[in-house]
Amino acid sequence: MTMRDIATPIRTKEILKKYGFSFKKSLGQNFLIDLNILDKIVAAADLSEDKGAIEIGPGIGALTEQLAKRAGKVVAVEIDQRLLPILADTLSPYPHAEVVHGDVLEMDVAALISEKFEQQQKVSVVANLPYYVTSAILMKLLEERLPLENIVVMIQKEVAERISAKPGTKVYGALSVLAQFYAEAELVTIVPHTVFIPQPNVDSAVLRLRVRETPAVEVDSETMFYRVVKASFAQRRKTLSNNLLNNLFGKENKEEMLQILQKAEIDPARRGETLSLAEFAAISNLLSARGQNS
Ligand code: SAM
Repeated sequence: MTMRDIATPIRTKEILKKYGFSFKKSLGQNFLIDLNILDKIVAAADLSEDKGAIEIGPGIGALTEQLAKRAGKVVAVEIDQRLLPILADTLSPYPHAEVVHGDVLEMDVAALISEKFEQQQKVSVVANLPYYVTSAILMKLLEERLPLENIVVMIQKEVAERISAKPGTKVYGALSVLAQFYAEAELVTIVPHTVFIPQPNVDSAVLRLRVRETPAVEVDSETMFYRVVKASFAQRRKTLSNNLLNNLFGKENKEEMLQILQKAEIDPARRGETLSLAEFAAISNLLSARGQNS
């Protein structure tokens, strides 16, 4: 008997009915029922038999199954205990797909990678993320400098656009700078509501982050870089100098701030959203140097 793929409307409804499963909105549960979209997600991750995949939130296994067909090993982290017996059933044809129960935000993902992927040189995260924690999950994966090849995620369209935005555009912000510091960001495709059950209220998109071996620009202190970036975008309508004064230097240090901007050759009247990663790094490095001299 050939088994139908999980990600079809008929099979998904059968599984949900068999287990009397009810969606929890608070956990961002929108399951994929479209194999074409799944193909695009999996293709973007560039998997093969010798590679591994980590999935965050397998649901009933729609994406997990497609990952298991391509990757040598799949580890899926699911927070909702009610899904564990369902996954044990739906994923039974794929013994190299393992489900781990837990909250990915609380998990030591570096340890998970070294424990579970001894045989696989390259590991990617591939997920249809729960939208309520998209940014937190992505920042965790990037900031922890995990040994990942790609991060391919289905997220809200607006967030995908922000993360992949170029300087000088309306949606370029702190998240774009921080994500692009660690990875090359690319919006793979926009996705209609109709590929999910239940359908989310927002538009979605697939984003690919190719994780860089070393960050895009050299910074002496990542903490300082973060502070500069966050301060620069604190109030979008204000100039860079106003934002830096109000949110980082303090008004009493105006002269010093102007000196630093001058040394970095950045016009204080510009807005944060026009600065490149290299310019943020220049400000940050001058500030770290000041800290060491005083
Ligand atoms: N991958 C499935 C699919 O595409 O059909 C389900 C995707 S659904 C958008 C998100 C999944 O993430 C749900 O199964 C949800 O229970 C799970 N989830 C939510 N928060 C989580 C967390 N903090 N850690 C791990 N899984 C989580």
